Amino acid sequence: MLRVEIRCPLEDKRTPIEKLVRQYGIKEADIRRFEIVHQSLDARNRAEAAYVYQIELDLKSEEYYRRRLGKNASSVKKYEYRAPKPGSIRMNHRPVIIGFGPAGMAAGYLLAKKGYCPLILERGPSIEDRREKVETYWKTGILDTEGNVQFGEGGAGAFSDGKLTTRIKDDRVRIVLKTLVKYGADESVAWMNHPHIGTDRLRIIDKNIRRAIEEYGGTVRFNTKAEEILVHKGKITGVRTAQGEGIPCETVLMGIGHSARDTFRMLEKAGIPLEAKPFAVGVRVEHAQRFINENQYRNIRFARELPPAEYFLTHTSSNGKGAYSFCMCPGGYVVPSASEKDTIVTNGMSYSSRDGVNANAAILVQVNSSDYGTGLFDGVKFQEELEKRAFLLGQGKAPAQLVEDYLKKTASKEIGKVQPTYAGGIRLCDLHECFSSEINRSLEEFFVSADKTIPGFASNGAVMTGVESRSSSPIRIVRDLTTRESAVSGLYPIGEGAGYAGGIMSSVIDGLRSAEMIIAKFAKWTDL
Ligand SMILES: Cc1cc2nc3c(=O)[nH]c(=O)nc-3n(C[C@H](O)[C@H](O)[C@H](O)COP(=O)(O)OP(=O)(O)OC[C@H]3O[C@@H](n4cnc5c(N)ncnc54)[C@H](O)[C@@H]3O)c2cc1C
Repeated sequence: MLRVEIRCPLEDKRTPIEKLVRQYGIKEADIRRFEIVHQSLDARNRAEAAYVYQIELDLKSEEYYRRRLGKNASSVKKYEYRAPKPGSIRMNHRPVIIGFGPAGMAAGYLLAKKGYCPLILERGPSIEDRREKVETYWKTGILDTEGNVQFGEGGAGAFSDGKLTTRIKDDRVRIVLKTLVKYGADESVAWMNHPHIGTDRLRIIDKNIRRAIEEYGGTVRFNTKAEEILVHKGKITGVRTAQGEGIPCETVLMGIGHSARDTFRMLEKAGIPLEAKPFAVGVRVEHAQRFINENQYRNIRFARELPPAEYFLTHTSSNGKGAYSFCMCPGGYVVPSASEKDTIVTNGMSYSSRDGVNANAAILVQVNSSDYGTGLFDGVKFQEELEKRAFLLGQGKAPAQLVEDYLKKTASKEIGKVQPTYAGGIRLCDLHECFSSEINRSLEEFFVSADKTIPGFASNGAVMTGVESRSSSPIRIVRDLTTRESAVSGLYPIGEGAGYAGGIMSSVIDGLRSAEMIIAKFAKWTDL
């Protein structure tokens, strides 16, 4: 099989395969199969910006074409995902997965497909019921602490932007993207440089994957919180649900995300090894998307052909703290994302069309034990206090301020050109009151630096809404790096809450890798 690179100028309306066939004189009859595997934008020369595609071709007369395509082609092996061969140890019970977010869903899908019939326990509701609860919260402020943006089918990923970019290098990314396309994502998700699904599509995909898991023999139980982990002589023996039901099991994949603070506390009581880890806090900033496009796409011919622009900015402040933009949502919305009453938590999402008038991104400052103390739960308490302070400062709404005013340290009196999108409503104030002087210093310096990189970033009506406190987990469920198992035998911490992943894609891959360990160790449930 050949992999070929082809440049398509932005104004070129032909599909990459049409262009390839034409440019290299490939006979259509000689193409047995082709697959676009990657697309990126090359705008180094802004006057000649082009999409660069990698296309895999299965051709008749491959050697002939390889010579003809010269250095534009290389030979590659056909990609195929192979799960490990089933092991031989007999399971007495089906594996239990706690949490149906991206990590639990990926592990559940693979285990179900391979004949392990997992039982999945999710504290929150199905996506249909969850959607109603989330919309009620966004419209009225009435929060359901078990069905919200953090808890329920699809996990924190369900009401997200659905960006699938990841820094991890893992071949499994390809099968994950293909699987998402199979269950409802747009085809382009499989090859775009920065794949993005959108919250509207994610909900459909989550439901389709759940159905597939059930068809393969898995079971998904909603509104079923794991309230106790039963351990005997260092081994998992079962799980007790909030309804009081005891479920005997010897294998538990724990994919609880970063927001289940009660569950972290329960794990500590059960003697499961946990450790504190650094995380980051900050605000969501919003700009007019048009302003971001004009800056990022300046002097690019045919920029109107490009999707809404993104940015990524970092700055190390004078106190040594790193500050950075995170989870940027072009054409998106700032969403109320709390899971506890009388708190404010922001996050960002977008629809698949990314056609909102604002761009938003979290601006985060790294925090560690020097900010909150060395106790296991000190980071969690720090988050909780920050979220409560934001609620008080905003008098029940989200506290917000123009970036310009924040830099002048004066409370904003009125909104500028950018209308904040936070659904629960905002109250203008001085956000300095939310944060410590060290965090404020880092945020201030970040905005000054960002304004040099993107002139106008700190003015132009840019508005910040607080607080962004759930970007990653303050706790890690400790596991062996090779076996992926906790010191408590049979417990496999997975995903963001385990502290080993960040974001949808890496949580999915983490879930898959632990499911592979189970497959390699145990015999199929369906064979027993
Ligand atoms: C609004 C928003 C937008 C985001 N946008 C993006 C994005 O665009 N791209 C990206 O990569 N990441 C994004 N993220 C982050 C991403 O969603 C998370 O990194 C990812 O969902 C983590 O996956 P996970 O499976 O480890 O945990 P989660 O998705 O948090 O899932 C954990 C699940 O476990 C359940 N649970 C917890 N405790 C229990 C218990 N005791 N019993 C039973 N069930 C339990 C929870 O209800 C939850 O459903 C966003 C997050 C939010 C909130």
